[in-house]
Amino acid sequence: MAGFKALLATKSDEGQSVDWVELTEDDLMEGDVTIRVTHSTLNYKDGLAITGKAPIIRHWPMIPGVDLAGVVETSKSSEFKAGDNVTVNGWGLSETHYGGYAEKARVKAEWVVPIPKQFNSSDAMAIGTAGYTAMLCVLALEEHNVKPNSGPVLVTGASGGVGSVAIAVLSKLGYEVVASTGRTEEEDYLKYLGASEIIDRTEFSGKPSMLGKERWAGAVDSVGSSTLANILSQTKYYGAVAACGLAQGPDLPASVMPFILRGITLQGVESIMAPKERRIQAWTRLAKDLEVGKLRAMAVAHPLEDVLELAPQIVEGKVRGRVVFTVG
Ligand code: NDP
Repeated sequence: MAGFKALLATKSDEGQSVDWVELTEDDLMEGDVTIRVTHSTLNYKDGLAITGKAPIIRHWPMIPGVDLAGVVETSKSSEFKAGDNVTVNGWGLSETHYGGYAEKARVKAEWVVPIPKQFNSSDAMAIGTAGYTAMLCVLALEEHNVKPNSGPVLVTGASGGVGSVAIAVLSKLGYEVVASTGRTEEEDYLKYLGASEIIDRTEFSGKPSMLGKERWAGAVDSVGSSTLANILSQTKYYGAVAACGLAQGPDLPASVMPFILRGITLQGVESIMAPKERRIQAWTRLAKDLEVGKLRAMAVAHPLEDVLELAPQIVEGKVRGRVVFTVG
């Protein structure tokens, strides 16, 4: 049986290590769809898993990589056939099930999503979990009645993966998008994606007042902590904030005042265990509301071998936009 290359994380008394290894299909975990992986990507969570900075991996050894895209080789499910272009985001990949940093993957059919025809496999990974989560955040704002004419929508962590895709989608939909970033030198990039104004993120790092001046009809927040607390205090009457991340920190030093005096909504957004119908909805909307040109402009291609060098960089907030790995 022909072998394939994979990145394998192992744990011993000395700690965690990650090494390139040669595996065979017999080494893969259970599943009904076997995929030849052509592309993967790097999310914040992948950075945490590879550097070991957070306990993402819960089954050892593990092939990291929360996302993959490629071509179906064999399928026991009638839903897929050899040759289909597919992607998998999250579920247990990189936690309890072998993930995308390998030339082959075997997964459950219910995890697999067909790549919309507007995108190729590289585009699907430029989107990846970060981009699909950005779309889940946009859906959450829409469902809470935040409309393009409601007022400005703030996107935090703007130069990162979730932030970049959120800006591109919201601006295409006609929202007035304000980008909060620690990298104001990325102004041209953020304006190209669709931001109309750039704000230095230090504006949101101080102690939040219980109720600030109304500024935002809505927000997509991927950083949490005092930033999220400040945004909540500045959200307009009946506005909504979609919170998906913790790049600044997992704490939330907020008060109930904006909830009980302005009727605002804080909507948590979770991508890993989202049901398949919600994923299909998000991917369908991405195909409609994300310009492929902008998506490609935010993506940088790397061979998968670069993952060990890039993983610490994304944890330090030094990666702009999205990384796409070519695999094999
Ligand atoms: P990225 O690293 O690509 O982007 C994060 C961005 O946050 C950075 O680019 C930076 O943007 C900003 N940032 C970094 N450090 C700080 C800080 N100390 N204070 C304020 N802002 C900071 O990560 P992703 O976009 O992939 O993910 C963003 C977050 O969303 C992560 O916490 C991730 O775990 C979470 N996430 C959650 C998901 C879910 O299912 N709930 C799914 C996907 C992601 P800038 O330089 O512009 O300020």
